[in-house]
Amino acid sequence: MKQTLMGNDAIALGMIHSNIDMVSGYPGTPSSEILTNVQKLKAQLKLDLYAQWATNEKVGFEVAYAGAIAGRRAAATMKQVGLNVASDPLMSAAYIGNLGAFVLIVADDPGFHSSQTEQDSRVFAKFAKIPVLDPATPQDAYDFVSLAVDISEKFQTPTMLRPVMRVCHARQIVEVKENHEFNPKKGKFQREISRWAAVPRAGRLRQGYEMIDRINAIKEYNWEELIKPEFEACKGGKLLVLTSGTGYGFAKEALEDLGIKADIVKFKMPYPLPENKIREQFANYEHILVVEEPMACIEEQIMASNVHGRLDNTMNVIDELQKIYIQDALTKLGLYKGENLYPSIPFKDEIPARPPNLCPGCPHRDVYYSIMKVFKKKKSIYPSDIGCYTLAINQEAIDTVLCMGASVSMASGFSIADPEKYTVATIGDSTFFHGGIPPLINAVYQKHKFLLVILDNSVVAMTGRQKPPQRQNGEVDIVKIAEGCGAETYEYVYSNDLNDTISFFKKMKEKYENATGPIVAVVREFCVLDKEVVGQHIHGEFAKVIAEECVACDHCTTIYKCPPMGYNEEGKVEIDPFLCIGCGSCLNVVCPTEAFTVDEERSK
Ligand code: SF4
Ligand code: SF4
Repeated sequence: MKQTLMGNDAIALGMIHSNIDMVSGYPGTPSSEILTNVQKLKAQLKLDLYAQWATNEKVGFEVAYAGAIAGRRAAATMKQVGLNVASDPLMSAAYIGNLGAFVLIVADDPGFHSSQTEQDSRVFAKFAKIPVLDPATPQDAYDFVSLAVDISEKFQTPTMLRPVMRVCHARQIVEVKENHEFNPKKGKFQREISRWAAVPRAGRLRQGYEMIDRINAIKEYNWEELIKPEFEACKGGKLLVLTSGTGYGFAKEALEDLGIKADIVKFKMPYPLPENKIREQFANYEHILVVEEPMACIEEQIMASNVHGRLDNTMNVIDELQKIYIQDALTKLGLYKGENLYPSIPFKDEIPARPPNLCPGCPHRDVYYSIMKVFKKKKSIYPSDIGCYTLAINQEAIDTVLCMGASVSMASGFSIADPEKYTVATIGDSTFFHGGIPPLINAVYQKHKFLLVILDNSVVAMTGRQKPPQRQNGEVDIVKIAEGCGAETYEYVYSNDLNDTISFFKKMKEKYENATGPIVAVVREFCVLDKEVVGQHIHGEFAKVIAEECVACDHCTTIYKCPPMGYNEEGKVEIDPFLCIGCGSCLNVVCPTEAFTVDEERSK
């Protein structure tokens, strides 16, 4: 049966069709829709399965992996930087293995379109010594889920599926199973202390040797089942292209465009590779070009004098693949001397500047505006964190962004390094649950003095508006957690009158002056894109600017920066009625000449 599916839809359906019934993960682009789609399929098909977001990737990994130890078919989902967080259990799980199936799905982001770093999770799989599958298309993504389940069960090892953004978010007509009957395995934990808790060195050493035997057996399987049939179709000649994932499509198209004849071998499983058997094939070719992204995973395993790729600068060393990079590589190898088929054509039209910006009516804007008004830019350091509130960088209300939870630990560091300044850290609710709690405990017991503002909009807003823990049933409370960590904690319920928010932060500044450790402000907000709650908060108070009052001081457009604010031909500020959502927040404080007023016409 054929269905038009996005890569992440295909992975979710592949999981259901492979009878995976435990899925746990943490959102992050480009992986987020995988678990969301499993949840949708669960509801649509009324399936009895576990599909839940975890507080971070490590927790998600461990929940799912326990299921696989107990014999179930389980999967954990995350993005590439999330694997850094889950790397601790991954390294141990690679030694211990599993009874059922454990599929670790990690979506990479070559070209860092929505990530801090580029990273290649195939290299992480190689580091951990677990097999990794690299889909090239949504069809592959669907098919490779069941292949990963088979490999994981056959060899009793965690198995990684590593799609990249262009697979996760591409659409394709995919051939899928028809009339699948969902029939997951029952879990039954088998007590075996020497396997599941191999603490003494002797036990771990044995597991280490078993892991090496396992990876060697998977190499053999990779050759016999997946690679040998590909080489059997090869003819030999000037060029052999070795590739995996999206590299296959780019290489195939570029060779066709440039009219170059070459054999292409696509590795479904780029680690572990039977390197010697592959090298035996090299005698039939003058050059071997490895086309892969974003790092040299295949190339490192099969190094030889006639192998070219990222390691010898024949291919691009950073950034996602483009056909021009392949053309450049072929030119360097002397295999292409023609014209540039992929010239970049300069775009002549003027593109409107669209800096990152918080949404119209977003409460974060008022909070950042108030923090800066009270604590002052020159007198303070503003560490922040990963989430939509990072967009306040446009208000210059953020000084640092590193990784999940780092705003809190960096606030500790800044408070020690530069105690003359106020340190005001900001973090979202989901990020606080993810990585903000341990550094807060650290700051409390070591008495690091800073203000931590937890922007609680009760949603994981940047990745799909999933519900975070405090919203599920009210049993988790951020204020109690911060208090439980030992921090002096205050709560503020956001009001759209900026005077109220400024007053709250003035109070926080007074507390800061007398504090001997961190103080926490939990600001209860909402998200303007959250349809379940937005109606309770936005009451249709639209704004307009009285032209005669506007002196074009730029304060509203450079410091407050709500997207509807712009200049008209007279150089006065105007509100774009199409963008204004009627939150009324700009009506007080923002304009020194009080040029903002209620647009009675629209507010009726
Ligand atoms: S803050 Fe007031 S006076 Fe200044 S540019 Fe904006 S509307 Fe005009
Ligand atoms: S009322 Fe003011 S702050 Fe609210 S969305 Fe409109 S322009 Fe922005």
